[in-house]
Amino acid sequence: MGQSMVAITEAHCTGCDLCIPHCPFEALLPLATNPPERKHKKRPVVVVASQCVGCLSCIGSCPTKALHEILMPPISTQSPLLLNGKEPETETVLRWGKKGLGWA
Ligand code: SF4
Ligand code: SF4
Repeated sequence: MGQSMVAITEAHCTGCDLCIPHCPFEALLPLATNPPERKHKKRPVVVVASQCVGCLSCIGSCPTKALHEILMPPISTQSPLLLNGKEPETETVLRWGKKGLGWA
């Protein structure tokens, strides 16, 4: 059996950021720019595959059910979520302190 991870259905992601503080591994981050073909005005959140350990803590946090579990193959050298081996360019999120998102 393979390792669990999460993926985000971009079309269902409104960019509300509610899921971000639910990830203890900082694997959920906003995309740096909004793709031009996107119907939502706000950029989506993406899964940084190299950070995701598949704990599924975030899975119930999305109001639009954009987060879903995927299974990785038992033996894999690279996540299929990585595009051409590169991580997507994401924004930095201030998680702690008075102006941070706080913890779930
Ligand atoms: S909670 Fe859902 S809709 Fe909101 S940013 Fe996360 S994945 Fe997108
Ligand atoms: S499955 Fe766990 S590590 Fe992966 S994005 Fe969700 S909360 Fe973070």
